[in-house]
Amino acid sequence: MHVVIIGNGITGATAALELRQLDHDCKITMISGESKYHYARPALMYIFMGHMSYQDTKPHADHIWEEQRIDLVRDWITGIDTDAKQLALHKGGDLGYDKLLIATGAKSNKFGWPGQDLEGVQGLYDLPDLQRLHETVQRTRQAVIVGGGLIGIELAEMLHSCGLPVTFLVREDSYWNNILPAEESRMVSRLIREAGFGLKLETGLKEIEGDDSGRACAVITDTDERIECQLVGLTAGVSPNTDLVKDTAIDTGRGVFVDWSLRTNVPDVLAAGDCAEIVTEGDARNLLQQVWYTGKRQARIAAQVLAGREAIYDPGIWYNSAKFLDLEYHTYGQVNLCVPDEQNLYWEHANGNHSIRIVYLQDRVIGINTMGVRFHHRVCEAWIAEQRPLDYVLEHLADANFDPEFFRRFEAHATAQFKEALV
Ligand SMILES: Cc1cc2nc3c(=O)[nH]c(=O)nc-3n(C[C@H](O)[C@H](O)[C@H](O)COP(=O)(O)OP(=O)(O)OC[C@H]3O[C@@H](n4cnc5c(N)ncnc54)[C@H](O)[C@@H]3O)c2cc1C
Repeated sequence: MHVVIIGNGITGATAALELRQLDHDCKITMISGESKYHYARPALMYIFMGHMSYQDTKPHADHIWEEQRIDLVRDWITGIDTDAKQLALHKGGDLGYDKLLIATGAKSNKFGWPGQDLEGVQGLYDLPDLQRLHETVQRTRQAVIVGGGLIGIELAEMLHSCGLPVTFLVREDSYWNNILPAEESRMVSRLIREAGFGLKLETGLKEIEGDDSGRACAVITDTDERIECQLVGLTAGVSPNTDLVKDTAIDTGRGVFVDWSLRTNVPDVLAAGDCAEIVTEGDARNLLQQVWYTGKRQARIAAQVLAGREAIYDPGIWYNSAKFLDLEYHTYGQVNLCVPDEQNLYWEHANGNHSIRIVYLQDRVIGINTMGVRFHHRVCEAWIAEQRPLDYVLEHLADANFDPEFFRRFEAHATAQFKEALV
């Protein structure tokens, strides 16, 4: 049996290695147009800032792939023929498969803005983006970033490290408030301004102006302000990369449609990770998960199914963590989903740089959000999974402290305020 995996991100790479553990005999080929070896995409900013080399970002030694008998192909796939079970390679020729895993990830959103394809306009997603950025910053005096979120702030930090002034255009009235609750979003907005970035809220992009050589030279906002800039970062979110399957028999919506075993509608073709959209039953929204650990988790299920076993994906308790400049952000379970009847307890330190939010529904804790406070993942996850009552979580909040020796303790403060609020 020949299993071909398109994509060598966390999803493709995990699936390949797991499959080898489950099936010692099958032939495995993993293909990526971006790089020969799997690397940690979230570390792109550290490569740019010189904190890590590309070599440092590879989770596995190069020899592991040969040892595990996983063939690596560095090329772009340009077409899938699901009847003939063949893939077309950009460099020429075809590659046959018995089973296929599509793990093509995501791509930066572009919304048809005039000038979006000018030189100097780009997203931040992959190694070619990093290369483009290196080149463009050399001739940049000022940069504009369109859209907020986590990638936007990473890009801003990268440009700041080169001494470039950066202005954000954010459509919402507070940074990333479609994800963050109002107070946390205000905290991040304030920190962005304090760090010296320009932040224009309730402001969208109308068009990007180019100069005679086809390079971006300014943006025009939807309030008709003109901001001169030589670099425009487009970080208004990402979408599943379905380019390859659009004209095939494989069904797509926002992503590649899959069931809970990550099978597409076409026999022997699976999809997982950032490119996949799990179709749910009834009124529930389809599931699109686009973070590192969910790619890994889905890959493990895909590997089992590729090996001929039955397996069902369990999304578990949602978790995400990131940094907004120096501010750590952690979220567990359901936060800011505005579930009917949900209630919130929110504590913020007087210095405005630390907060804890506990979300509960009918006395059961369903979500926790922390800013500038690090809690133990497994403790928070267990409370939510075990549907612990609010009283229990308040009594045991100190147990969540990540490492009392190194991290300041805010739990007593927060608990006292929470208890007062509940009286
Ligand atoms: C800048 C940045 C920072 C991030 N930070 C975090 C973070 O802190 N925490 C977190 O949880 N997540 C983070 N993410 C998201 C995380 O990186 C993704 O969720 C994860 O990489 C998705 O893995 P994947 O394997 O599904 O797809 P990808 O990593 O996108 O891999 C897809 C691969 O498929 C290849 N490919 C696509 N099409 C073709 C084709 N036609 N032919 C051949 N190859 C193809 C691509 O070249 C790519 O190598 C970040 C993402 C970015 C861009």
